[in-house]
Amino acid sequence: MSSAVMLQLSGVTKRFGGLVAVNNVSLEVRQGEILAVIGPNGAGKSTLLNLISGLYPTDSGSMRFLEADITLLPPEQRAWRGLGRAFQIVQPFPEMTVRENLLVGGIYGKPRTSMKTAHKVVEDVLRLTGLEPKAETPAGELTLLEDKRLEMARALCTQPKLLLLDEVMAGLRPAEAMEAVELVKKVRSSGVTVLFIEHLMPVVRALAERVVVMDYGQVIAEGRYDEVAQNAKVREAYLGR
Ligand code: ADP
Ligand code: MG
Repeated sequence: MSSAVMLQLSGVTKRFGGLVAVNNVSLEVRQGEILAVIGPNGAGKSTLLNLISGLYPTDSGSMRFLEADITLLPPEQRAWRGLGRAFQIVQPFPEMTVRENLLVGGIYGKPRTSMKTAHKVVEDVLRLTGLEPKAETPAGELTLLEDKRLEMARALCTQPKLLLLDEVMAGLRPAEAMEAVELVKKVRSSGVTVLFIEHLMPVVRALAERVVVMDYGQVIAEGRYDEVAQNAKVREAYLGR
């Protein structure tokens, strides 16, 4: 199945002093797919996501999202265009309820969203993420898995077309991680394309339709999970650390 290219990175590079954290990376995210970016610690995965969401400016290269050049756009304008982002470190407001947290999150969504629309989006997201029964619960009282659902829900409240996830499964037990996998699949079924970074290989295997492997800032392999898992360069990258 080939579908339209949603996000295209061409020769994207980011340096921190003398360190080239992301080195001439070109890749595509296709409409409707679930793409994993994997690689050893320090490979440049999070930096790549930060470049895509606009948190860092690129040193060179360009990025197109939905037919528009976004290379120079600030993060909020990328979010308005449909780039959504969930973080590994979850920081909800602990005294506020789940619903209140999501309403606050929704403010970072599209500009000029009416309160009525914001409420409707929050209710839809509560349902999709299975957080409806917890809507009135203070965020500080959630379990770790519920925290992850809330973080995903917060990103979804910005109504992303492409959702970026950076190790959102971190800390979950295997059974919980598989529940989170089901949630991501559900999110995709609702029409959202997903780019995720993950170090838990069972999660990558269960979720990714395509895998991009990074090492020392560069893309060293790309393909289906079973293909990249067999790749000699990939095996060396993981064994070498
Ligand atoms: P990954 O997410 O694959 O583990 P990162 O993208 O976090 O890797 O980091 C890639 C490299 O860039 C690492 O060597 C890291 O130390 C460095 N790095 C990341 N962020 C910064 C920063 N803000 N300032 C300086 N160096 C950084
Ligand atoms: Mg990282």
